[in-house]
Amino acid sequence: MGSKGIVASAAALGILLQQGIGDTIRISLTPEPGGDRTVEVKVAQELLQTMGFRVFVPLVAACPGCGRTTSTTFQELARDIQGFIHSSMPQWKMRYPGVESLNVAVMGCIVNGPGESKHADIGISLPGTGEQPAAPVFIDGKKAVTLRGASVAADFKQLVIDYIERRYGTGGVGSTGRTAAE
Ligand code: SF4
Repeated sequence: MGSKGIVASAAALGILLQQGIGDTIRISLTPEPGGDRTVEVKVAQELLQTMGFRVFVPLVAACPGCGRTTSTTFQELARDIQGFIHSSMPQWKMRYPGVESLNVAVMGCIVNGPGESKHADIGISLPGTGEQPAAPVFIDGKKAVTLRGASVAADFKQLVIDYIERRYGTGGVGSTGRTAAE
């Protein structure tokens, strides 16, 4: 059950997959009473994506947080963006070919956040403790804009949508652009 089952399955299957063994995988997890049985499928997909074998859904990388940040803003934004991406994927898959390779970063401070943000397709560094209330956004490795105020989360979500439209929409560079593995 829970993290024990996920860790045990990933450890066992990871070794086999790394050796090129297996064409099909199944993760077997005991759900909580009334729990979601599709977690098995998500874990299998995340294992394959983490190991670089398949890409199913855009990656949202978030920092773990540390003494530089005392607010939960970056955690909330990372969760919101991830939930937004997952709920949008059924439509996006049809409309934006290659969107599953998108890479988004949500970082908790502007001391160390920009480095990770620059490696994502689009990334934001939220202000940490004692920092100016400004959130620089990096697009394709370059600083594009600085967001401020109460609408930072909504503004960043809109920037993600704009980026997807530009890159994967009709006339965008689509799957010929950078991939998550680069
Ligand atoms: S990005 Fe900043 S807040 Fe996040 S873990 Fe790194 S130093 Fe801490």
